[in-house]
Amino acid sequence: MGAKGVCANMNPPDFYEEGQLVGVLTAEPIDRVLDYKAPAGGCWMGAYVQVPLGPRQVLGVVWGPGRGDWDPAKIRSVVKVLDVAPMRAEMKAFLEKVGAYTLTPMSAMLRLASRAPGLMNPPSMRKLYQLGPGVPDRMTDARTRVLAVLEEYGGLCFTMKELAEMAGTSSSVIKGLVKQSAVLEVDTPRDAPYLPLDPGRPSKALTEAQAKASGQIQDGIKAGRYGTTLLKGVTGSGKTEVYLEAVAECLRKGRQALVLLPEIALTSEFLKRVKERFGADPAEWHSGVTMTERRRCWRMVGQGAAQLIVGARSALYLPYRDLGLIVVDEEHDNSYKQEDGALYHARDMAVLRASLNDAQVVLASATPSLESWVNARNGKYSRIDLVDRFGDAVMPDMQAIDMRSESLRGDKWISPSLVGAVKARLDKGEQSLLFLNRRGYAPVTICRACGEQVGCDHCDARMVEHRFQKRLMCHQCGETKPMPEACPSCGVEGKLAAVGPGVERVAEEVTGLFPDARIAVLSSDLFGSARALKAKIAEIAEGETDIIIGTQLVAKGHNFPRLTLVGVIDADLGLQGSDLRAAERTFQLMRQVAGRAGRADVPGTALLQSFQPDHPVIRAILSGDEEGFWQAEAAEREATGMPPFGRLAGIVISAPEAAAAFDLGTYLARADAPIRAIGGMVYGPAPAPIARVRGRHRVRLLVKAPKTAPIQAALTKWVKDVKLPNNLRLSIDIDPQSFY
Ligand code: ADP
Ligand code: ZN
Repeated sequence: MGAKGVCANMNPPDFYEEGQLVGVLTAEPIDRVLDYKAPAGGCWMGAYVQVPLGPRQVLGVVWGPGRGDWDPAKIRSVVKVLDVAPMRAEMKAFLEKVGAYTLTPMSAMLRLASRAPGLMNPPSMRKLYQLGPGVPDRMTDARTRVLAVLEEYGGLCFTMKELAEMAGTSSSVIKGLVKQSAVLEVDTPRDAPYLPLDPGRPSKALTEAQAKASGQIQDGIKAGRYGTTLLKGVTGSGKTEVYLEAVAECLRKGRQALVLLPEIALTSEFLKRVKERFGADPAEWHSGVTMTERRRCWRMVGQGAAQLIVGARSALYLPYRDLGLIVVDEEHDNSYKQEDGALYHARDMAVLRASLNDAQVVLASATPSLESWVNARNGKYSRIDLVDRFGDAVMPDMQAIDMRSESLRGDKWISPSLVGAVKARLDKGEQSLLFLNRRGYAPVTICRACGEQVGCDHCDARMVEHRFQKRLMCHQCGETKPMPEACPSCGVEGKLAAVGPGVERVAEEVTGLFPDARIAVLSSDLFGSARALKAKIAEIAEGETDIIIGTQLVAKGHNFPRLTLVGVIDADLGLQGSDLRAAERTFQLMRQVAGRAGRADVPGTALLQSFQPDHPVIRAILSGDEEGFWQAEAAEREATGMPPFGRLAGIVISAPEAAAAFDLGTYLARADAPIRAIGGMVYGPAPAPIARVRGRHRVRLLVKAPKTAPIQAALTKWVKDVKLPNNLRLSIDIDPQSFY
């Protein structure tokens, strides 16, 4: 890529001559862009640079002209322009807009955009060996073998180690041949481009509905314009096939495509499908990728040498050269909301990113978020429905098991009706899945002598027993301790009892009921690595398990062809919270889980254990009247001015002392004029639902404002004058998803 290609897209082209003042944004926690002098040779706007900051050298980006409000004598020079693709204008605009929307400082935004190791180092090189023109003065067996390997593999290059191994010689033999130019030594960048993907390879024959859906998305890509499409289709309807063909169109146009997936565990199945379709692997970007691979991915994306990127939400911040399509698979998934640092929602930011790039967005889900459903209803997004499963597969038959009329002991969780259904599957050699969205053995450990519930020392949370690991664990801070013999409060031994079920306890019950069945427990804490989890999932898909007991980990996208029964242990679980999205989440999760059953040619059944089978949400789940459910849910939110019809912002103040956090909260609640000025309201302060995490007391305020109100400006004004003592922290979460 020449410099020409870079500046052609920067409008107007900004070049700074040596010595001119430039403003450099660094990833250091400083509130402003810093002035430097352009280095010898000058620099372009957007260039990644190395600058001195105090005694250190830090990474920065040329953000614009210098401000000139600094003592000229103290202004230092940019040390060097780094050998990476400069930040493009649309990326800069994207970071600025996300920063402004989420109230995240620009330094933190730049950190997100430069999360690859070694950007300040020159691209690392390695020596590779290939056949040269020279003729050796004399031949030995070893020399003959080396040349034979190189001849056999034509123009291919090898590392010294590879070549020595393949020829069965030592490196000194190869070095001797290099001296005589019979073998050439070439310096090659260590970060190799990704193998090209070929959209011209044969695709699956799409059904009429799939082809229509895919064609509609491809039209947008062909036209090179922005657009967002909600692709709603039951599990197994072929959404992935549809968007893979959209990816193909994007690649044919020579533009890059990004597919966001909510779980790393999901990627391996998807990677396989990409390879089948396009003949090579895409670039990967997520927490399971090595540092070396990360660096390669970041650099290659910037050079346009990665065509398709499969990743987690932070892949949005890669330096794409020309992004033409973003797919957000399972768009309703909670994990798209970043809950740490910059609090952004990847689904919304994907739409923003695409609008700045004339790119298309596909939001795929069987159970869309209410936000996307409403956006489609308003015509802001297009909507395409795939109503049938591919092939002969049909949606499972769904029924409630009314727990009020089942006779079940207090410490048992699987009703006789469900036991019967599992037994019938066992007899036929089919798989059953029992779903309970609770990790561990039991959510509560209580002392039967004094009534004490064992809690975390650092958080206001109960410790959860994990019997497989023989430990108690706090699900807030991750602290674990051995299961005590005696009550930590009264000291009486042997009286600690487990209360309520977790997946491990259900597994124990299943083992008792079906001692000969092969059982697998799928829960995120039971697998040391993504690889171990993948292996387990593959094993289950092969049919090596009879009964699967799982948390929400199993709700997502895995394909278990022999699974014909899904039993939900506690369908009421999600309905108890006071969370705004409790109904929506329960509806999505239950429909997703049920969708696991009967994918192939055998019809499936989903049985939901419930103590309130007449609850409107449970009724909607069972009847499958999705549109009715969304309409009712939307109407309720609209009536109360809640998202997506109004705006929310959550403020969390935390401090080592509860009183200090409350004082600040009370002060803010009284000084609410800037919020009232935009027609908003401040609720609180109140102890956060989990009032203490990692030893810090947490107090919440909630701001509610009309949809079009300038909430960011009002919030900024509101907290501007607050001088935070060192040990107090205040964080603002725009469009909060959870309220803990
Ligand atoms: P979804 O993403 O909606 O869950 P998938 O795209 O994974 O659905 O499709 C479900 C299964 O059906 C996959 O194994 C897929 O390969 C297969 N499938 C879907 N559409 C077709 C098609 N047109 N031709 C062949 N196989 C298909
Ligand atoms: Zn804790």
